Order: sequence, then structure tokens, then C-alpha cells
Amino acid sequence: MWCRLFRRSAVHAAEPSRLQNASVEFRNVVKTWGSHRVLNNINLTIAPGEVVTILGPSGSGKSTLIRLINQLETLSGGEILIDNQPTRALQGRKLRQLRSRIGFVFQQFNLYPHLTAGQNITLALTSVYGVDADRARSRAQSLLAQVGLADKTDHYPSQLSGGQQQRVAIARALAPSPQILLFDEPTSALDPEMIGEVLQVMKGLAHSGITMVVVTHEMQFARDIADRVVFIDGGEILDIAPPQTFFTRPAHPRARRFLQTLL
Ligand code: ADP
Ligand code: MG
Repeated sequence: MWCRLFRRSAVHAAEPSRLQNASVEFRNVVKTWGSHRVLNNINLTIAPGEVVTILGPSGSGKSTLIRLINQLETLSGGEILIDNQPTRALQGRKLRQLRSRIGFVFQQFNLYPHLTAGQNITLALTSVYGVDADRARSRAQSLLAQVGLADKTDHYPSQLSGGQQQRVAIARALAPSPQILLFDEPTSALDPEMIGEVLQVMKGLAHSGITMVVVTHEMQFARDIADRVVFIDGGEILDIAPPQTFFTRPAHPRARRFLQTLL
């Protein structure tokens, strides 16, 4: 862990550095809430460095699917492997290590309101990963520069626009040098004029080599950056295809209907 942080912090953020990546594999994954089966027998392998967008109607299980990857939810059945390692039984230090390999960006940013942009980024570095304060600060500064917010280190979330807050949240997710980035509708809470700046940062990351799983309703974005589109409805994967196929010739009738509702 330490070595990774050290190595990455030496890289100037403005340079298009190659980020690390890892594979994610769902094997027969089931998630139930009480008697409600919200994910049913999910099988999906995401290659290292692949960019996958998850599309589907509201309530279809998209958030649950990606939250299972870093154990924000617990599995009811099956297994999720990261770089071929089963993760279900991990606890304590091993679970923290796993989480450090996976960054998560939420729809509502989830920044700490009482901390500055810089402090939102350094908090986990110093308190969870034992990085010294100076090194954490310089890492925060270079990550803020990477997302175009070099001059906002000392601003509080309330002093930032929604788009800026989400870019801070992305910088925070990148702080522990993750190998996988998960995004749960990262632009859905934004005013339309702020969506572009966040998508721009995400596009840069998509080209950086990191593995990305993105739940989104931004169809043009999915078209532009995804290696593959996964369409889910009713807790099942109904289609997996490259975007040019999915958007022009969706295989499943429900995918066709879903796309028509967006027109
Ligand atoms: P999506 O992100 O595609 O809108 P979700 O993954 O949030 O879908 O939800 C899938 C289903 O799981 C929905 O029916 C939702 O009501 C249910 N669900 C999600 N979280 C919980 C929870 N904490 N408790 C009970 N049911 C939940
Ligand atoms: Mg959701």
C-alpha cells in the first residue's frame, strides 16, 4: 500500500500518468432484501483497464450491483473476485486493503461539509492509510490540479458548485491510488451546465488505464467512453455489448424499450 502511495504521489498530476487497474468478476451473484431478490444470478467479468457502463431503468439493481464490489452491501449468494481473489470472506485489515483498491463516487458527492476540499482528500490518507500530513497535502494538491481545482484546496464544499464538489469527490476517490473506480450516477444531481466538466474529468480517467464501472443515464457519454455496455433490468443482466452495437441494435426487447423511453 505504502509503496503504491509513495510511487504515485511522485507523479505530477498534470501528466497523463497510467493508473493501475484490476479485474472484477461476478460469479452467480445474488442479492436479496428480505424476500425481495434484487439481483439474480449475475455473471460478469470486467477486464483490467476496461470501462463498463451500467444502464437500466430505476430500481433495476444498478446501485446494488456496484455497491457490492467494495462491500458497501453484503452478498446474499455467489462471489465477487478482484484480480481473481475471492472477496466475500475478507475482514479487518484485508477488507480495508480491498477497499483501498476501489474508489467510489456517489451521486450526492458525500463530501464532509466541515472539511475543506483539501482536507476531504487527506482525511483517509492520514487517518486510515498512515500517510504523513505533508505528503497527504501534496497528494491532495496534485489531485485537485488533475481535476482542474488547484485553487480550491481551502474552499469548503458549500463554497463550491455542484460540479466542483463532484470533482473534489473524484479526487478523493483517487487518493489511495485505486485500481478500480466505481461511479453511481455521478452527474444525476448536477445542474445541466455542470455535467460536462465532470464528464470531462471522467473521460480523462477512462483513458488512463484504470478499470471503471459507471452507472449513468448519460447515453452520449456511455457511447463515447464505454468498452462495453451492460443493460440490467429486474435484477438481471439482459444484454452486454459494445456501445456501437447496444445503441444501434440492442439485442433484448426491454433494452430497445428502455432506449426508446430516452428519445
Ligand atoms: P437502481 O440503482 O437501478 O435504481 P437499486 O440497486 O438502488 O436500483 O435498487 C434495486 C432494488 O433494491 C429496488 O427495488 C430497491 O427498492 C431495492 N433496495 C435497494 N436498497 C435497499 C435497501 N437498503 N433495503 C431494501 N430494499 C432496497
Ligand atoms: Mg441507483
